Amino acid sequence: MRTSNPPPTPQQWQAIVDRDASQDGGFVYGVLSTGIFCRPSCPSRPARPRSVVCLETAEAAHAGGFRACLRCRPDSPESW
Ligand SMILES: [Zn+2]
Repeated sequence: MRTSNPPPTPQQWQAIVDRDASQDGGFVYGVLSTGIFCRPSCPSRPARPRSVVCLETAEAAHAGGFRACLRCRPDSPESW
């Protein structure tokens, strides 16, 4: 798994903490400790920004070695 992706900006982290559905489609985030990626509104948000990287698309997350979360289905934008 590559770890060269950027950490969340304060705005992105706030969207994750707030489960801000308006940010769905704007970015996804990968959790380094689990290898899972999620959309901002996922109910299983991580605890610490240091364990998170942000990615523009689900495709980028797959390319980075992350697997799609089964709870929020970040690789199925048609269901958002
Ligand atoms: Zn998720």
